[in-house]
Amino acid sequence: METERHDAQVFEVNDNALAVLEKRYLKKNEAGDAIEEPIDMFRRVAGTIAEPEVDFGIARGLSGDEARAVSEEQEKRFLDLMLSRKFMPNSPTLMNAGRELAQLSACFVLPVEDSIDSIYDTLKHQAVIHKSGGGTGFGFSKLRPKGDVVSSTMGVSSGPVSFMSVFDASTDKIKQGGTRRGANMGILRVDHPDIEGFITCKHDNDEINNFNISVAITDEFMERARADLDFDLKNPRDGEVIKTVRAQDLFRKIVEGAWLNGEPGVVFIDRINADNPTPQFPIEATNPCSEAHLPAYDSCNLGSINLERFVLTAAQAEEKIAQNGRASGPRAPKETDCVDWVALKECVRTAVRFLDNVIEQNDYPLAEIARMSRGNRRIGLGVMGFADALVKLGVPYDSGRALELANSFMEFIDRHAWEASRDLAEERGVFANWEGSVHNARDGRRVRNATVTTIAPTGTISMIAGCSGGIEPLFAVAFLRRQAGMEMPDVNPEFVKIAKDRGFYSEDLMRSVAEHGSVRDVEEVPEDVRRVWVTSQEISPEDHVNMQAAFQKHTSMGISKTINLPNEATIQDVADAYTLTYSVGCKGVALYRDGSRDEQVLSKGSAP
Ligand code: ADP
Repeated sequence: METERHDAQVFEVNDNALAVLEKRYLKKNEAGDAIEEPIDMFRRVAGTIAEPEVDFGIARGLSGDEARAVSEEQEKRFLDLMLSRKFMPNSPTLMNAGRELAQLSACFVLPVEDSIDSIYDTLKHQAVIHKSGGGTGFGFSKLRPKGDVVSSTMGVSSGPVSFMSVFDASTDKIKQGGTRRGANMGILRVDHPDIEGFITCKHDNDEINNFNISVAITDEFMERARADLDFDLKNPRDGEVIKTVRAQDLFRKIVEGAWLNGEPGVVFIDRINADNPTPQFPIEATNPCSEAHLPAYDSCNLGSINLERFVLTAAQAEEKIAQNGRASGPRAPKETDCVDWVALKECVRTAVRFLDNVIEQNDYPLAEIARMSRGNRRIGLGVMGFADALVKLGVPYDSGRALELANSFMEFIDRHAWEASRDLAEERGVFANWEGSVHNARDGRRVRNATVTTIAPTGTISMIAGCSGGIEPLFAVAFLRRQAGMEMPDVNPEFVKIAKDRGFYSEDLMRSVAEHGSVRDVEEVPEDVRRVWVTSQEISPEDHVNMQAAFQKHTSMGISKTINLPNEATIQDVADAYTLTYSVGCKGVALYRDGSRDEQVLSKGSAP
């Protein structure tokens, strides 16, 4: 750990995080050298995101001085949360806040209507968004199927899959000059006549590499597959039935694709729309990692709380219990006693305010996106470091206690996020599209934001915060890293600490753990420690799915989560996982069978 000190403020950053920051996040001069330190980046972000407090303050009757004092106070809070690694906004906010390209959102959905004008307008808009580091999602379901007539030319349409490859090729070109490699989600409804070609569109060619693909599955389709009935594929242009298939056969094709290489994923589109807080704008697509369910032209600002930072040590927990002076007398601390709920609530409230301010400061790439984003004010507060929190609490990921903790954490975060959004509505007013929203229709609840919670993958920001990603289990306890021509074990620091505290530490053991990746079969590690340090491959698909469902119950939009299966999992195992995901109330599935893609990003036992 390298420690930076500045005005008594500290940001602890490890080598991996520093490398990522230097490469893409820190301001650079023309020679390409970073001209800010990580701490300056956080200052830049906190200062920029606190600015709108001045105008908001004056608008609600504060004097200029009072409003500036509020802004300074919030700036301090924002900075503290980031420096203490309790909260991080999504990458574009870290990269772009306070800079010329002030595009701050991670996720966008763009419309694709059934016309050349619409397709190529959106192609241009995709390029503009990618340049700024945002990801794009598209629903291609309105495009007429391949071979259908084009009346103005009497030619034939080439269909959704071929247009996807145009968006893919453009992504390739733009990524050369952008902040990060562009990411897309392509979605097609299960009742589109081209669905079979879509399911296999990434299998035997090299044309669609910059897309994740998902099938938008309807409730009717799930019903028909369950009852083994036929299912109609219809031309979106006029509703004509083009083909009738056996629903189970189509389901099987989706599952085979997912077994083969993890694609397509699925999103349960009716369920997503049933929970759409702004039904006046229907949802056809999601962002690339499928956690943000957005109408066309909407965007979402994400931010994630690092749960590990809110776990107390056993001694702190005992002190807390003693201070609370429980009538029931002394007792051993439960997991929930070991969480600093007061600090977590403060963090949630500040994070919601931060993300609402991001909407003000965002320089949107398009007028339509500005209108929709400001109209709905969707924010997506999520979590990361969940697996780290569990190991600190001594709770195995695949246990009932972990599910209870997931439920406690997310229920608490969602509840306080809504409370913060209600308070902001009192200060700043409800979101512009509130009147037609379910918040008005269902209970007249006056809130500032259409949505408050979403769980992102946190691919980069978890690295910057030095914690496990999103709600995923640990990928490995240790791996071998090549350093200066040698293979060195890189072991989770919390595991090293436990090994030393419990007296089973040795360098040989650490090397052996790094070679295995996991501790399941390492006899020198005590049984209870082995149980807690379970890794993603050792967790059953059911336990993965149940964890996703536990978080989904208290999340406004979706969850980014991969259901990991061992290499030897069968097609039926994949089918069962998909069916289970639907039956326990999830909004979608992304599944991955170990080793099934040629290029695995991380592989256990070897350096990433
Ligand atoms: P981060 O940790 O960098 O903030 P996440 O891994 O949490 O990002 O991803 C959040 C969302 O950001 C994704 O669902 C996607 O919409 C967008 N995103 C992620 N990676 C990229 C990328 N390389 N290019 C464009 N957008 C991306």
